[in-house]
Amino acid sequence: MSETPEHHRTLDGLRFDNRFTADLPADPSLENHPRPVPSAAFSRVTTRQASAPKLVAWSDEVLDLLGLDPAVVDDPRFLEVFVGNATLAGMDLHAARYGGHQFGHWADQLGDGRAIVLGEVVGGPGGRQTLQLKGAGPTPYSRRADGLAVLRSSVREFLCSEAMHHLGVPTTRALSLCTTGDEVLRDMFYDGHPELEPGAVVCRVAPSFLRFGNYEIAAAHGERELLEKLVDHTFDVHFPHLEGSRADKVLAFYREVVASTADLVVHWQRVGFVHGVMNTDNMSIHGVTIDYGPYGWLEDYDPAWTPNTTDAQMRRYAFGNQPRMAQWNVAKLGNALAPLVDDVSALQGALDGYADRFQSGWNAMMTQKLGLAMFDADTDPGLFEALFQLLTKAETDVTLFFRGLAEVPSAVDASEDDQLDPLRDSYYQPVQLNAEHRAATLAWLGDYRARLRKDGRDDAERAAAMSRVNPLYVMRNYLAQLAIDDAAKGDFAGVRDLLDVMRVPYDEQPGRAKYAEKRPDWARSKPGCSQLSCSS
Ligand code: AMP
Ligand code: MG
Repeated sequence: MSETPEHHRTLDGLRFDNRFTADLPADPSLENHPRPVPSAAFSRVTTRQASAPKLVAWSDEVLDLLGLDPAVVDDPRFLEVFVGNATLAGMDLHAARYGGHQFGHWADQLGDGRAIVLGEVVGGPGGRQTLQLKGAGPTPYSRRADGLAVLRSSVREFLCSEAMHHLGVPTTRALSLCTTGDEVLRDMFYDGHPELEPGAVVCRVAPSFLRFGNYEIAAAHGERELLEKLVDHTFDVHFPHLEGSRADKVLAFYREVVASTADLVVHWQRVGFVHGVMNTDNMSIHGVTIDYGPYGWLEDYDPAWTPNTTDAQMRRYAFGNQPRMAQWNVAKLGNALAPLVDDVSALQGALDGYADRFQSGWNAMMTQKLGLAMFDADTDPGLFEALFQLLTKAETDVTLFFRGLAEVPSAVDASEDDQLDPLRDSYYQPVQLNAEHRAATLAWLGDYRARLRKDGRDDAERAAAMSRVNPLYVMRNYLAQLAIDDAAKGDFAGVRDLLDVMRVPYDEQPGRAKYAEKRPDWARSKPGCSQLSCSS
């Protein structure tokens, strides 16, 4: 357990310890065509060969996490392995079986339809890390799809995984982005206009890719033995600190997942991330963000906003609904675990803890966003609420607004212009900044500044604290799209630049002001910039 982590490993120096496939029942069939897979946790598969692969981007931090030497990317086998054309000794390729509730309805078997786990790396600084290729070919879980991924969605997953990490948001990571040289047919908006697009493969990295849906499918099919093995494996490998009987551990595990999920959504709300497809198959037991599909970043403040066109009617997974939807999802995990506890009311009690955990986390997060040293339960909920009311009155970029707010002086005699100037950059439509809006803003700022004076921090200290929780650079949808447009022409400089900017999202970076700008008008309703679908 306490062995020293290895650094600067070559590919051959990677050690694998594949507990998932060792501990859990395998699908006995090796037939790689879509089919129901009863009573198994996974199916062994092979990857599809890419015809003309290229390594186009990688993350140095993830190399580090795995204990890989940075020079490993120059080894031609790195590309071969992480595009899916070769394997390393010790890998055990498989696709996991899971189910899920999609948009509120039980969808039964889903599974890794285009994700293939390579194996579990151990011994590096990041401890156990599972490597998974996304887009490397079909599996028994591919249903009617091809098991492939297009470049645009792979760039989005690669960049956002790493951006989220640097923002301090728990997330799966991305080691590499490779293009395959093969074309993939996609109907981007499901409107009868399929086009050939370049294919790509991302290597994702996480302690495990266990989702709520892994437990749900075993429970839904009454596969008690599988469910028991799944939880025992989960506890042994990923929650070794849990104590007591299996039933005790199930309860303690559930409490942890409830808490880490609530904490995760607090982070999403802090940085303005909208996941877009919070189905239970896209919810990690580690409380990390998983499955970057039609996600988006909130630009103008609108709690009803979702980037996912597939959800445009219901807006189930809109920004403001995320806390509630995560709670709904953990309830589904609770149902799946219920057969394993003696006292279901204890699970219910743990679920009831979600609301408190989220609320106290949210209060603490908002307190920090506003630069207050202490939360005041008497005054601050009203202050937060009034702020969100204000933000809906004119189209306001939330990222720039909170950065500007850090510069608003608290002094009682500050002039009106000195108060308003720092916020000017955050508004999208100057015509909305009429006398009424000015008065409303000054009224809220009056309360805020009085609250700051009571809080007693000096302005410089407050600004510094605020800049540690309010990012300046976020993966704005249009920025990703610009990088994707270049990538589609074979130019990956934009992808690498964006990756580099997002490494230090809280600090002003000289010469990189353009990455902090609000969404330009051309991007307001351009596909990819504000509208995305699940077609990826
Ligand atoms: P998602 O909406 O991306 O979470 O995917 C839901 C389910 O569809 C999962 O089982 C995915 O693995 C599967 N899936 C999505 N896209 C593809 C694809 N291109 N090929 C095969 N399966 C897919
Ligand atoms: Mg998914």
